This record gives sequence, structure tokens and C-alpha cells, in this order.
Amino acid sequence: MKHNFNAGPSILPQQAIDATIEALKNFNNTGLSIAEISHRSAGWDEAMDECRALWKELLNIPDGYHVLLLQGGASNQFLMLPFNMLQTKAAYLDTGVWAKKAIEAAKFVGEVQIVASGKETNYSVIPQYKIPSDVDYFHFTSNNTIFGTEIRTDPDSPVSLVADMSSDILSRPVDVSKYAMIYGGAQKNAGTAGVTFVIVREDALGKTSKKIPVFFDYRTHIKELSLYNTPPVIPIYMMKETLKWLKSIGGVKEIERRNKAKAELLYNEIDSNPVFKGTAAKENRSLMNVCFVLDEKYAGKENDFIELAKANGIVGIKGHRSVGGFRASLYNALPIESVQVLVNCMKKFTNIL
Ligand SMILES: *Cc1c(COP(=O)(O)O)cnc(C)c1O
Repeated sequence: MKHNFNAGPSILPQQAIDATIEALKNFNNTGLSIAEISHRSAGWDEAMDECRALWKELLNIPDGYHVLLLQGGASNQFLMLPFNMLQTKAAYLDTGVWAKKAIEAAKFVGEVQIVASGKETNYSVIPQYKIPSDVDYFHFTSNNTIFGTEIRTDPDSPVSLVADMSSDILSRPVDVSKYAMIYGGAQKNAGTAGVTFVIVREDALGKTSKKIPVFFDYRTHIKELSLYNTPPVIPIYMMKETLKWLKSIGGVKEIERRNKAKAELLYNEIDSNPVFKGTAAKENRSLMNVCFVLDEKYAGKENDFIELAKANGIVGIKGHRSVGGFRASLYNALPIESVQVLVNCMKKFTNIL
């Protein structure tokens, strides 16, 4: 058995994988693969409706919001968002690599004010910030996948609030009503790469006087129910099955409880084992991506730990090159048993050092 700590694409619920395999062989007893049918057929309409309905139910999305299922990843939203909402100036919080990319994209459309940056601490801390009231919107990244920091509360904002939640969506309850838009790539907690979720409040749109290319205009995809062009049917199906699994285990409240237990188990070991050290500030630690290194005394032994982990079925714990060390991603589908195996490995490593 493998213990999959990959940062994304990452572990998925087995039942979502199995259901997607079945749909690839024989969709809805049509005798055809899901890859072979029209995206305008009745069976497909229902699958897409079910997927949107699950989003609304799981996150308690209020009326007035739309769930769009698009392509191009979160990266494409970095540009699509300012096209739709940036008239003059937008404010961004710089908390790492993905935030930075969102900032660079927005600069193509208008002025960007960076309210605070964690750069000086190599993004190990979420900096203090104040949201200005003279901007079109405020954008932040709720979970910094690479640096292992997370903003787990929904900020109060005097302007439209927008969040990239690629790597912690569906990991806990979110007060969607506070946001003008929430978006992300599916390949962490919501399925597989190829589909991008956008949850957008309709009345936040249509406020800029700039011309928006048709395909880049959210209103096009609202009107066409995300069928303006051919949708990525396989990733959407997988998303639907992933959401179904989440609902079946008790939804975001239950998964938050499990995610907290998993993170606590691993952070406790990091904090009590003198060989390991966490890299993110304690008060900003992510429940999704746990970043840690070896104490300086053991520098150069990283590969020994990776090898020991590998021998125990653990995959995907090498840290991102900009932080080094290790990163264990504890996404929704990862069972606590896998975290226990990792913790046991850390204890074993300490004993044989
Ligand atoms: C993975 C990730 C992205 C990039 O998503 P793509 O779908 O590959 O464009 C953006 N933001 C965050 C926070 C991520 O974790």
C-alpha cells in the first residue's frame, strides 16, 4: 500500500477513481465511454447539474452565486479575474509563489497594490495587512501550497473579496457570502487536473467599462452553464464523484475535524522530535501542506530520510526546491493511518541516526 503525500496532483478517494473508471468504460449504461458521448446529451447534463448541486450543498453557497466549471487551471483565473473585475486598481496580498503569479497577471489589466509581502521571511509568515477601501477588489491565496502557510478565517473586507483556494477548498467550512469570487484548480482537494472551479457572485460582475473577450467573460459561462465550449468531461465526472465521497463521509465539517487531527499528529511529532523542525510560523501553519526540514546538525541526511520513507510506502514528501527539506500534503482523501506511518518513520529515523 502506498501513502500518497503528493502536493498536487494528489491523492483522491478510491471510490471516485473507481466510479470514473466505470464511466470511462460504460457511461450511465449507454454502452459508450464518457469520452465518446456528446456533452449536450441528457445524461451528461445531469452529471454536470449534480456536480454543481454538490458544490452548492457542501459549501452552503447562497443564491446569487454561480459555480462555473472551466479550463486552464487556477493560472488562467489569475488573468480572467482582473479582466472581469479590475477597473483601475486591485489590492493583493503577497504570500508566495502563487500569489506572485496572480499579481503579475493582474498587472496586464490594471494597477496592483501589494498590501503586504512575506518575502523577507521566505514566506514562512503571513504578514499583517489592511485591506484598502479604494480598490476594485482584494485578492489573497488562502493556502500557500509551497510554503505551508494558511489563512483559515474568512476576512472582513470593505471591497469585493477574492480568494485562490486551489489547495484548501473543501477542507473546512467557508462563509461564501463574504466573497465575490473563490476559484482554484481541481487537482488538490476537488478532483483531477483539467477542470477549474469558479464560484462567483453575479452582482460582482459587469462593473468594469473595459471590453472583455467573450471567452474571458464570466457572464458567457454563466449564461451557457459552462457549456460555451466542450467541457472536460472526465475531470468533471471525477470532481462530481470526489464531492459525492465528501458528502458521504459527512461533508466539510467532518473533513475539517479529520484534517485537524491529521495535522496535529504530524506537527506534534515535528515539534517534539529534535531531529525535525517546522518551517512555517506556528500561528500560520497550514493543515494541508506541512513543511519541515532536518535540524542543521543533520544537514545532508535528507535523502536518507526520503529513502527510509520510501521503504515504508511513503511517496511525495520531498519539499519544494524553494523551501527544501520535506513537505507532506495532507489533503482530504489522505487517511490518518498514512500520517501515522510517516510519524513512525520519523521516530525510526531518529533512533538510527
Ligand atoms: C496548484 C496551485 C495553483 C496552480 O493551479 P493550476 O491549476 O496548475 O493552474 C494555483 N494556486 C495555488 C494556491 C495552488 O496550490
